Amino acid sequence: MKVCILTLFPELFTPFWDHGIIRRAIQAEKLDPVTINIRDHAEGRHRVTDDRPYGGGCGMVMKPEPLTAALMEAKTRMPQATVLLLSPQGRPFDQTLAESLSATEAMVMVCGRYEGVDERFIDRHVDAEISIGDFVLTGGELGAMVITDAVTRLIPGVLGNEDSAQSDTFSDGLVEYAHYTRPPVFDDQDVPDVLLSGNHQKIDRWRRENALIRTVLKRPDLLEQRALSAEERRTLEKWRRIIDGLLE
Ligand code: SAM
Repeated sequence: MKVCILTLFPELFTPFWDHGIIRRAIQAEKLDPVTINIRDHAEGRHRVTDDRPYGGGCGMVMKPEPLTAALMEAKTRMPQATVLLLSPQGRPFDQTLAESLSATEAMVMVCGRYEGVDERFIDRHVDAEISIGDFVLTGGELGAMVITDAVTRLIPGVLGNEDSAQSDTFSDGLVEYAHYTRPPVFDDQDVPDVLLSGNHQKIDRWRRENALIRTVLKRPDLLEQRALSAEERRTLEKWRRIIDGLLE
């Protein structure tokens, strides 16, 4: 996947490309990232990229000309790319969106700064505004990294078998089951016996039940729209009986 980031701070991305699974994905040619410095496309001796807002008020607004010129450079590299603008006003980013973006071949992410970008650039060039949460950051760069990270690990072949995304939280609408590693006893706490049993059928059943109950406890909202399977229904009824027994 080709990813192009339009930013005033391309150097923020250098360590991001250089570590962990992102680095591995680049080496394996699954991810082909580039940053374009918006300032390189600004005119004049001072290469100004922002200006005061029409109508007055505080802060500065990113000028449309350097943004457009930077985007044109991106488009010459990847003409079909989806153009995303990082914005707190955008569609909330989630795993479903990460999955659909992982199936695209190229995306451009525009990182705003200051009070944001001139609306005419958005109207003319942006396919979607994406928010990484209901809070306001100083710039879009962290959001672009969040999106790149979540999308890259879903590109087929990026994760090894041992760290497959299949059972991840959200992938089937539940939070993931609990994980344990050695030692078998830590601080007087045991690893659940079943995980040491070597019986993979029982381990799978335990993990499905554990994921369901953890979802009830941590994210009950995820279950509101879920069509429960017969097994999930039996599990919840079993736990209801246990809880009812405690209340009697
Ligand atoms: N004045 C803007 C508003 O109220 O909507 C906020 C501008 S913010 C200080 C500067 C830039 O940070 C934005 O243009 C956007 O690119 C980025 N940004 C801030 N919060 C974000 C969020 N929650 N998700 C994605 N990008 C965000």
